Amino acid sequence: MISPEAAREQKARGRKLSHIIEDHDDGYYEINLTGNFVYFNQAIINISGYPAAELETLNSSDLVAPENLADVRQMFQDILAQDIATHYVEINFVRKDGRTIFVKMTAAVVKSIKMEPVGFHGFVRDITERRIQEDQQAQTRRQLDDSNESLEIAVANANQMAVEAEIANIELNQIFNTSLDGMWILDLKRNVLRANDSMRTMLGLSKEEIVGRKCYDVMAGNCCDNQECTIKRIKRRKIPIRNDIELFTLGKPTPYTLTATPFYGLEHELVGVLENFRDITERKEAESALRAVNDELQRLATLDGLTDIANRRALDERLENEWRRVTREKGELALIICDVDFFKKYNDAYGHQEGDECLKSVARALEGSVRRPADLVARYGGEEFAVILPNTNLAGAVCVAENIRRAVMELQIEHNDSATAPVVTLSLGVACARPAVGHLLEILLTTADQALYRAKEAGRNRVASNEVVFPESL
Ligand code: GH3
Ligand code: MG
Ligand code: MG
Repeated sequence: MISPEAAREQKARGRKLSHIIEDHDDGYYEINLTGNFVYFNQAIINISGYPAAELETLNSSDLVAPENLADVRQMFQDILAQDIATHYVEINFVRKDGRTIFVKMTAAVVKSIKMEPVGFHGFVRDITERRIQEDQQAQTRRQLDDSNESLEIAVANANQMAVEAEIANIELNQIFNTSLDGMWILDLKRNVLRANDSMRTMLGLSKEEIVGRKCYDVMAGNCCDNQECTIKRIKRRKIPIRNDIELFTLGKPTPYTLTATPFYGLEHELVGVLENFRDITERKEAESALRAVNDELQRLATLDGLTDIANRRALDERLENEWRRVTREKGELALIICDVDFFKKYNDAYGHQEGDECLKSVARALEGSVRRPADLVARYGGEEFAVILPNTNLAGAVCVAENIRRAVMELQIEHNDSATAPVVTLSLGVACARPAVGHLLEILLTTADQALYRAKEAGRNRVASNEVVFPESL
């Protein structure tokens, strides 16, 4: 039993509670164990769209979307079994107009005075808006996740590229700075943008003295004087250039191979030129040593081993060249063939070695008797010599021959076994030709030989001469 005051108080509280429930924004329901409505507030009417009179005739399960009925029943069973807790479900609620709204529905057991379950009660809140927001948020989150993922991939890629670019940059810097070749980068106005260590050593200047200045101000040499400016050429043709140049570096003229390459910016526009200077002193030295060796070989190949004058090979070569030249120029070519008189006897009397010495002396005398640079004295073979006299007529050649004869006599080389003089003497045959196209060189040799024969026949130690007479047919 409760006191009358307590009963009054309880009643007042009940009115106050029922007032609160009646005006609550959330729906409030009470149903019996079979699901029929015992009580519902105004919010249930608003949420469901059913008028109160109609709601009273409905079973609560009529408002639950068919797909959620099993969940709701399960919830009621659970509440009964556990006897205490308030449970809730989030379900679709079907309105009178057929529209579905999403609601959160709580439920707890209603008990009689005897504490037996007589039904259920709870709140119903329309959470459609929340659901839509949640869906939108979820979608946004998914989109964000997606774009985040692509963003992350992009960032990762960009990082990777940045790392690779940095590595490439470091590698390039290393190559640039450790290269033994001097390297620098010039802009199109010939300002030095960068120069490596070798370039600085090469120029004997500090970085500050090079970078920012014009290339022609820091480099002395024929780079600008003897060739067109590489920058101009690269601007025009945009292809690498290679040139051998000479620069005045470290106090002396030094040969370099200059390689100039177009230098492009990010948009692949020409921004300057990379120039590489390779010191080729050693190569040049090796080249000139090789040239000297070749020259010496060439000289040896054309020199007579005993007398050091031109050999037969050089004589033949020169004769052919001169023959062609005078033919072309319609000039004259004279040839003298000289033969030591009684030389067999000389060898016999004085020995072969003395014979050799004699031949050397005769060669010197011959050399001393010709004046013009184009003249050639050669050993024809054995104790015979030949002299080529380009652009010389027969009279002139005879004069030279006579000089030679005298010069040899004046050597005064004793030759007691000679039938013509007590000293070594020469017999000389002179021929001169004015060849035309088609004339053969051999005729000059034969004619000179014939003259020599006549000189011998006539008693030796003399000059005989013949003008070359070409066959009629020519
Ligand atoms: P001729 O007056 O008719 O020319 O008489 P010759 O004895 O000079 O002519 P021949 O052709 O009979 O003899 C030439 C000699 O020259 C034969 C050879 O022993 C000698 N002779 C040829 N070449 C050399 C050489 O390189 N050294 C020496 N010492 N003697 C040579
Ligand atoms: Mg002879
Ligand atoms: Mg002889």
